[in-house]
Amino acid sequence: MDNGFEIAGEWVEQSRRVVALTGAGISTESGIPDFRGPQGLWTRNPKAEKLSDIRYYIADPEVRRLSWQQRVAHPAWQAKPNAGHLALVSLEQSGRLHALVTQNIDGLHQVAGNSPEKVVEVHGTIHQVVCLRCDWRGPMQATLDRVRAGEEDPACRSCGGILKSATISFGQALVPEVIDRAMQAAQEADLLLAIGTNLNVYPVANAIPLAKSAGARVIILNAEPTPMDAIADSVLRGMIGEILPRLVQNSHARHISSA
Ligand SMILES: [Zn+2]
Repeated sequence: MDNGFEIAGEWVEQSRRVVALTGAGISTESGIPDFRGPQGLWTRNPKAEKLSDIRYYIADPEVRRLSWQQRVAHPAWQAKPNAGHLALVSLEQSGRLHALVTQNIDGLHQVAGNSPEKVVEVHGTIHQVVCLRCDWRGPMQATLDRVRAGEEDPACRSCGGILKSATISFGQALVPEVIDRAMQAAQEADLLLAIGTNLNVYPVANAIPLAKSAGARVIILNAEPTPMDAIADSVLRGMIGEILPRLVQNSHARHISSA
């Protein structure tokens, strides 16, 4: 084990209010493509980005039909949590996970076993559907059943409005209460773990300087450099499914051996 891991593992061990901030990098290892990263679908194919822009979605029924086809085939329905997700479950079970802020919409943290009340989904969730007119919400699978039964662009059954996954598309405002909750948690942390996020999407990336100025240590685990690396106390590179369990389990092992 190199020195960086040793020291970071001690910080995890000493912490009592860890806030984890997760991004696409933890989910790509479960087979869910990164839409925004350098190799992302939207980066390589700007046309695909149109499907995720709320203005085209509202204006063009063809965009909605294609979007529903993509939702039916979304990899999230088959994906399984990986060792990185499970490490965050074990961190919660040790009583030290204060909040799990995620940019991911796939729900894999809850599938892995983290408590729903710990998870703050800043970009929403694909597991729910919302009506853009009356704000009705319901489970995604029930609406996907309507698509599979032949409705290409299912309308809200309450008001006839346009339905969409409860995710934040381009051109759509973030939910202020959700962002506030994430930033509040960051300021209450004694350790912030940024995991698999390139930290270039705002305002979520502000969690790093907020946590830091409130006195927390910051550890960044990501495959690529991020704009926040310079203010982090430790930067660890590698596959999340390998390095995160090492970080958390090493600290567990020390807990047990010192008990
Ligand atoms: Zn409605």
